[in-house]
Amino acid sequence: MKKRCPKCLQPKNLDEFYPRKQAKDGRRSRCIACEIEDVLAYQARYPEQTARGKRRWYDANADDVRQRRRDRYWANREAELAYNAAYDEKNRVERRRKNTTRMRRIRKINPEQSHRWDRTHKVTRRALLLNAPVIEHFTLQEIAARDQWRCHLCQELVTRQTWSMDHLVPLSLGGEHSRANVALAHQLCNVKRGRRPLPPEVGLPEGGVA
Ligand SMILES: [Zn+2]
Ligand SMILES: [Zn+2]
Repeated sequence: MKKRCPKCLQPKNLDEFYPRKQAKDGRRSRCIACEIEDVLAYQARYPEQTARGKRRWYDANADDVRQRRRDRYWANREAELAYNAAYDEKNRVERRRKNTTRMRRIRKINPEQSHRWDRTHKVTRRALLLNAPVIEHFTLQEIAARDQWRCHLCQELVTRQTWSMDHLVPLSLGGEHSRANVALAHQLCNVKRGRRPLPPEVGLPEGGVA
């Protein structure tokens, strides 16, 4: 069964019309191609309203959009990775310049934050260097919050001036760089312990790595 679109006057199949429950034939009157044409014409005519509308819609659907992007990425991972690599290659110089400027600005505005980053990256780099069997990405901040700001070696409170990440099984002995294998410790306690096994009274936390 064909239906004639009143705009382009073409007879078309029903599935070339958007559905509309209330309509007698369950379809809208104009064909999809014509509806899209109208929308594009409207958007070209009122770019500001369009931008505002899109923004509003995006804000309201941000979670959905993010999920859909994620799904698309994992469905076409190979293609996405190739595309990203090509894009990166094309923009390498420009991107590096922008990034450097940005980092300099952030470091100036917020020296404490950048100090925290440096510490985190230093530990992660060391884990990479020592070929740790597992490398998770987390911050000292996260570990400190989890361990309630107590040093796992002496049980005293730790501050940002004295904190450090202690690997229960040391990285140098093949330990993982994972949340399960780290605990908050004073820098001094950490250094004093060195790569010795944990004293028995400290022991491993529940779910820790043997
Ligand atoms: Zn039409
Ligand atoms: Zn301590």
